[in-house]
Amino acid sequence: METLYLTHPACRLHDMGQAHPESPERLDAIADQLLASGIINYIDMGEVRAPAPDSALTRVHSPAHLQHLQNLQPSQGFRDIDGDTIMSPHTLEAARYAAGGVIEAVDAVMAGQAANAFCAVRPPGHHAMPARAMGFCFFNNIAVGVAHALAHHGLKRVAVIDFDVHHGNGTEAIFVDQPQVLMCSYFQYPLFPGTGIDCLAPNMVNVPVPAYTEGAAIRELVSAHWLPRLDAHAPEMIFISAGFDAHREDDIAQLGLVESDYAWMTEQLMAVADKHASGRIVSVLEGGYNLSALARSVVAHVRTLAKL
Ligand SMILES: [Zn+2]
Repeated sequence: METLYLTHPACRLHDMGQAHPESPERLDAIADQLLASGIINYIDMGEVRAPAPDSALTRVHSPAHLQHLQNLQPSQGFRDIDGDTIMSPHTLEAARYAAGGVIEAVDAVMAGQAANAFCAVRPPGHHAMPARAMGFCFFNNIAVGVAHALAHHGLKRVAVIDFDVHHGNGTEAIFVDQPQVLMCSYFQYPLFPGTGIDCLAPNMVNVPVPAYTEGAAIRELVSAHWLPRLDAHAPEMIFISAGFDAHREDDIAQLGLVESDYAWMTEQLMAVADKHASGRIVSVLEGGYNLSALARSVVAHVRTLAKL
């Protein structure tokens, strides 16, 4: 089949408290909408086989970071890391399966078992720094996958597209000035984490946009800023930090995207992947907190990936 869809029950067990927007119900909403849409019959549904080993995580995180999180994880109740980012007894199990899913997606796509893959995993990853958890993120899932593609599969050029409404500061910190990795993103600014406008590294294509920017303007920015750089970079694999919190119904920020904008961006990235990367795309869930908008947007994204 065209598209591999990976998830794991452990990703549901990470819990940051009842009122937290980054909730297990996000995965339930996606699973429900996937079922309702009928596309579940036309994609390859898989369960992540193994959690990410230390050797994969330490390609992008310090060993001290792994040890620090291990020390902080409570055996019951919650442990607050930074006010937004909270550990509970299953946090690291979930985080390791989330990163493991991306590794498995890379392996499957490299082996030609699927043209592309979507990882429905949590906790998200793109704010996780080399030595610091922040912004709901513990391990930088997509960075772990990128590092695996470079180190294990020997790829020379990859691209990371981050269409989450927040700047992927962790991913940027990990790959800044690494010319093999081109990172393209837009993000609402000013907004958490407040980064992205001060990095002039040649491999970072950052497009800050003001609140209330609509989908049409985002499409123009993507066409003007991302696509020419992607074409010039000629990536052998495209990674997508697929956050859906730029949706107009998502109250965590104030951008105006809708499902068709996510489908359009996916189509553009597939065209680049077809031209340069034999179609290879690995997409990884990041944010998206309005459950209905999140689930509908994931379906639009996966439906496009699967050419349905
Ligand atoms: Zn976000």
